[in-house]
Amino acid sequence: MRNFDYHRAASLQDAARHLGAHEGWQVLAGGTTMIDLVKLDVMKPTGLVDISSIPEMQGMQVGPSSIRFGAHGRCRRRRHPAQRLPSACPALSESLWKAASPQLRNTARLGGNVLQHTRCPYYRDTSYACNKREPGSGCAALDGGRTHLHAILGGSKQCVAMYPGDWAQALIAFDAVVTVVSTAGARRIPFANLHRLPGDSPEIETTLKRGEIITMIEVPVTAAMKGSHYLKARDRESYAFAAVSAAVGLALDGDRVSDARIALGGVAAKPWRASAAEAVLKGKVFSEALAREAGRVAFANATPLKDSAYKIALGADVVAGALMTAHQRAKG
Ligand code: SF4
Repeated sequence: MRNFDYHRAASLQDAARHLGAHEGWQVLAGGTTMIDLVKLDVMKPTGLVDISSIPEMQGMQVGPSSIRFGAHGRCRRRRHPAQRLPSACPALSESLWKAASPQLRNTARLGGNVLQHTRCPYYRDTSYACNKREPGSGCAALDGGRTHLHAILGGSKQCVAMYPGDWAQALIAFDAVVTVVSTAGARRIPFANLHRLPGDSPEIETTLKRGEIITMIEVPVTAAMKGSHYLKARDRESYAFAAVSAAVGLALDGDRVSDARIALGGVAAKPWRASAAEAVLKGKVFSEALAREAGRVAFANATPLKDSAYKIALGADVVAGALMTAHQRAKG
């Protein structure tokens, strides 16, 4: 490993000051991605600000108008009924406990979870060309590599890496807002604006400015939350990234759909809201045929790579299946 400097922050202000004053420094929280990537020589921070001892940014509150997550809370135990999250919004709970392994969830932090890096194998292996790791070097995936796990929505000619997270799909489906803090103060970012498409600069993955630390993630309470579900299709049920996943929510007015939320995972370059598929459902009487139509529309603009055409049919089924479960929950 390359040498790097280290600072254990005593407070959020201390961490923000340190990040603002030192170029090339990164935040270290759970470290489940950062340490891997530093050891692989993919990330080369000159220093790490360790925020794991800061008492702020912990906890979760389920309130009448919003659910608030401290960004430094761990990803574990969100399945437990005592925490109220599984009943308040099943999709938010399911997308957390279906991610990674229990050991990783015990260590990983929520703020880091939403910022996780792609699992494109060429990004993590420095013997291959990768525009995201080394801008301008090329893309081994597009240059004849294996593309079965890459994005079929939102990719570019420079990069087709897939955003790998699970929880982010539930957050974008339910209009989450992220609070960030730096020496310049605090600001709120709609979750839909946090991640960037790769375009011509895939190395810039988010709209965070230098020195900004995520402190809180807030999700407004809506009627579609109770009728929600996160369905994840993957190679191995115990521990694998999504081949395709869907975070969905439905609210009903009698038999008709009054609100619909659909977000897709495992298929896009960033957390992906399927607004056209939501429009298929709104105002209509729910049926399996309507759910299947929404699934087809969700992937109507997909551009499969040579190994990833399978994601279109699978994805349509996953969306339809998730909606069927969500409908049962919405009916109570
Ligand atoms: Fe790198 Fe993106 Fe190409 Fe993967 S798809 S090799 S991350 S540029």
